[in-house]
Amino acid sequence: MQQRRPGFPARLPGTAAPAPARPAPAAPAGGRSQAPSPSGVGLDSAAVRARMVQKLAAGGITSTAVLQAMGAVQRHQFVDSALVNQAYEDTSLPIGLGQTISKPNVVARMCELLLGAEIARSGGLGRVLEVGTGCGYQAAVLSHLAREVYTLERLRGLHDKARSNLRPFRLANVHLLFGDGMLGYAKGAPYAAIIAAAGGDAVPQAWCEQLAVGGRLVAPMAVSGGQQMLLVIDKTPHGLKQNVLEPVHFVPLKSGVA
Ligand code: SAH
Repeated sequence: MQQRRPGFPARLPGTAAPAPARPAPAAPAGGRSQAPSPSGVGLDSAAVRARMVQKLAAGGITSTAVLQAMGAVQRHQFVDSALVNQAYEDTSLPIGLGQTISKPNVVARMCELLLGAEIARSGGLGRVLEVGTGCGYQAAVLSHLAREVYTLERLRGLHDKARSNLRPFRLANVHLLFGDGMLGYAKGAPYAAIIAAAGGDAVPQAWCEQLAVGGRLVAPMAVSGGQQMLLVIDKTPHGLKQNVLEPVHFVPLKSGVA
């Protein structure tokens, strides 16, 4: 049965600690406990999220759609209860099995790049493929920006975690898939955009094939010297056009499933 996470702390860090929640009757596997009284919880979480959005805007994110999506998705619902206090800081956080949820800044940046796809300029983003579902946070953000989100995860444990994290949000346009994202997901192709949350040494052929003409791929990729950089590939009627942007730090893209 789906258990609710503890609510967002009723006070901001640096202020007096909130009264401890009632002890949970029996903590389920995964360390979740019952939600404390909901009074005031949503409000404070919204305020902290609004502050995160202000920082994103100050840091150069200009897309209103992206800022709204970042403001709408409750990042604290995607991290372990012990990390809830850090959920709206611009930091990556562990999500289990050696993987991490990306910094809000990086998620927003990559989403903004996706919206810059030629195909998105008239009528927005259609189908998007995400490689690396992780805890499901970025898929939830994408669900506000694209008509359909197909997201692939190669680790069964995280695929299941994302499913239970996302269930309460009832996002009908997010399709969680278990499989090797290096192969893409041909059944959903062609995609207006492909976004990878894990970095490899080369762009898998399948991704380029499954991208629509006018579509855009945004992915971390190792360049010469091993440095990981954010890569943007646009599929034009005349072929692929590649741009290498800033350095980034993502977990490795691995083949196969586990
Ligand atoms: N977008 C995620 C970030 C997760 S970290 C979030 O919001 O939480 C990157 C994820 O990519 C990890 O969960 C890792 O297991 C996954 N990954 C790595 N290689 C993959 C592959 N070939 N196919 C699918 N997922 C992969």
